[in-house]
Amino acid sequence: MEDFYTIQGEGYYQGTAAYFIRLGGCDVGCVWCDVKESWDVSLHPLVSVDDMAARAKASGADVVVITGGEPVMYDLKSLTEALKSSGLRSHLETSGAYPLTGRWDWVCFSPKKFKGPDPSIYEHADELKIIIYNRNDFVWAEEHAAKVDSRCQLFLQPEWSKEKEVLPWIIDYVKSNPHWQVSLQVHKYMNIP
Ligand code: SF4
Repeated sequence: MEDFYTIQGEGYYQGTAAYFIRLGGCDVGCVWCDVKESWDVSLHPLVSVDDMAARAKASGADVVVITGGEPVMYDLKSLTEALKSSGLRSHLETSGAYPLTGRWDWVCFSPKKFKGPDPSIYEHADELKIIIYNRNDFVWAEEHAAKVDSRCQLFLQPEWSKEKEVLPWIIDYVKSNPHWQVSLQVHKYMNIP
């Protein structure tokens, strides 16, 4: 769908320069999705894996973030192999809606209520990022935290359109439950993609 060199704004790698490759296509259907234009894969051009890797390499980035849309709808083996062959780190942003393919240096798992994750994702998650939209999402967060590996980093992030309302809830929650951390979409404060 698009690719661009920017700063990772969220989660564990917040503030790190990263080349984003956004794959078109998503059938998860989050009501608050901020990239609904990604959903219909037929609207986006086919790009070869080699071209994707070459463009990422030419940017000078060390880290490539594969995002969507929902990337795990596809077999990602050839793309991640091409990134590895180019000496790039492969990071994934996924709801885990389908079984994982490919070779990853970092998996950010962000489950969505609108289409639950495949159970195989939990053991691969390096980072669990829960979007908080209402108070019940804290219960949802703990349900998933109980299933990931103990090394997995835990983040709570306000849904952007409700950030002013939700952020104070998250601050209180993290102070009471310090195994969680706050994640903010700092790229939106910086007005970068
Ligand atoms: S999984 Fe991501 S791209 Fe798909 S609907 Fe949800 S927020 Fe949007």
